[in-house]
Amino acid sequence: MFKELNSSINGDSSEKLRSLAISSLEEEDDDNDNDDEYDVDDYDDDDDEEEEVPVALGFVEKPKNRWSLLRQLFPSKAGGVPAWLDPINLPSGRSCVCDFCREPLQFLLQVYAPLSEKESTFHRTLFVFMCSSMGCLLQDQHEQWKRHPEKPSRSVKVFRCQLPRSNSFYSSEAPINDGTDKPSGTGAALCSWCGTWKGDKLCSGCRRARYCSEKHQAIHWRSSHKVDCRQSSISPQASDSSSINNFAETQQVASNTLWAQYEIINEDECEFDTEVSDDNGYANSLVSRSGSRMDETVKSLMDSFEGDGDRKSWASFQERIAKAPQQVLRYGRAKPLWPMSSGRPSKADIPKCSYCGGPCGFEFQILPQLLYYFGVKNDVDSLDWATIAVYTCEASCEVTMAYKEEFAWVQLASQSTTALS
Ligand SMILES: [Zn+2]
Ligand SMILES: [Zn+2]
Ligand SMILES: [Zn+2]
Ligand SMILES: [Zn+2]
Repeated sequence: MFKELNSSINGDSSEKLRSLAISSLEEEDDDNDNDDEYDVDDYDDDDDEEEEVPVALGFVEKPKNRWSLLRQLFPSKAGGVPAWLDPINLPSGRSCVCDFCREPLQFLLQVYAPLSEKESTFHRTLFVFMCSSMGCLLQDQHEQWKRHPEKPSRSVKVFRCQLPRSNSFYSSEAPINDGTDKPSGTGAALCSWCGTWKGDKLCSGCRRARYCSEKHQAIHWRSSHKVDCRQSSISPQASDSSSINNFAETQQVASNTLWAQYEIINEDECEFDTEVSDDNGYANSLVSRSGSRMDETVKSLMDSFEGDGDRKSWASFQERIAKAPQQVLRYGRAKPLWPMSSGRPSKADIPKCSYCGGPCGFEFQILPQLLYYFGVKNDVDSLDWATIAVYTCEASCEVTMAYKEEFAWVQLASQSTTALS
């Protein structure tokens, strides 16, 4: 189903995502929504209108080509390593680690979302990282609810990077997307283990392997480098750091614990509306369990739980998601679709932009379906969330720092008590 729909927007990635951002921002949508009998919007503490704002849905696919996810193609991608937009001035220091366990954060996904109204946001990518430990995410919940802490401690971090059309890293012409596109120069040398963060520390044995942290040096040493280090230091090419300089190829990564890599492709949510309403018989099979059956069983269930906001919210969330159950991302600068009514932030919980002091607005949310594609187990200790909502500076402000930290709000499933803590 997704393949067919996507064939219509198979243009170059910058084009298709540019249209994503534009349509989400500018399209007026005055659809009456008439299927929302148990709308949870009135649980919102803001007084937004009930109008539906267009949402672009993100789906994961295996990359079409070896080169599809290279940074010069401005991809949206999940898992693997980030395709850093500014490949030189990467986040460093405390920004790269989980503030609880101090492990370097793992790359979750990046969304290419340029804003056409400003020259400085001709290219614009948001990067999301998180610690893979559920224990850290639980601690993160407690920190998240602290309003305006002096030094926020997080296990989920978001960075915004943007570039004008004319910049020193890429051609000002759109990529051709045939495998011949090259960036205008090499990026910073990255960690040999995680391939994610800057590899500032050099292995003193071979002087080839590079690391973002002592933790990754130690883990690489134990897993394979103990042997490889000796071999590469006696090999004649020891001083040739070819793997680092060959910027046309994807980064070689030793770690086998990165999440599986996917391309994120997107579709307007309304495409799925049409499909459902065109033919009701077909709609039922598409929507399957949570769609039409909800009318009978779940509705009566919900009537009996009239006061239970979470239950109503969850049913409404499921109904909306069921239009396209494989979605992993919802992009639309309006407000998140909250799975639960508890554990939602109020306006005061969303901090102001730490660079310009202006307001931050919701931009996109990540769904737990992504964990399924990553092959994360469904154990008690496994990483899990109901949704991650990303808030960004509404002005997409320009400061000297290449990677600006934005704000993520994580709502956990069945953690409604954290709202009270
Ligand atoms: Zn951690
Ligand atoms: Zn590393
Ligand atoms: Zn070495
Ligand atoms: Zn700002």
